[in-house]
Amino acid sequence: MSTSDCLFCKIVSGDVPAKIVRETERTVAFRDINPQAPTHVLVIPREHHADAAALAAADPDLLAEVLKEAHGVAADEGIADTGYRLVFNTGPQAGQTVFHVHAHVLGGRGLNWPPG
Ligand code: C5P
Repeated sequence: MSTSDCLFCKIVSGDVPAKIVRETERTVAFRDINPQAPTHVLVIPREHHADAAALAAADPDLLAEVLKEAHGVAADEGIADTGYRLVFNTGPQAGQTVFHVHAHVLGGRGLNWPPG
């Protein structure tokens, strides 16, 4: 998918609105439009990479920054001590629907394991 077709690239550019909670020069964190927990935030790199594997291969430092920001979201949301889950759905069989890499930050309630 080219970046002009990418929904999350449009959130980065401001063409699609989102509730942004945290930003750095290279990342954006925004509330998921269909939250699955009291805290459900997505952290993305501004640069387009299809999934976590592609980002790990292309720019591991940027992947590390996405993870750092995800932990920052948890701290901002007050769930760092109680616990939270970070998820990178990677590929269609894992349920990935938007092919711009994103870390889900989920918390604020008890989370079941294994996931569905
Ligand atoms: O991991 P997956 O690709 O399925 O996650 C995509 C996520 O993007 C979904 O949780 C969906 O609710 C969210 N989304 C969003 N804002 C949009 C479109 C999708 O937060 N405009």
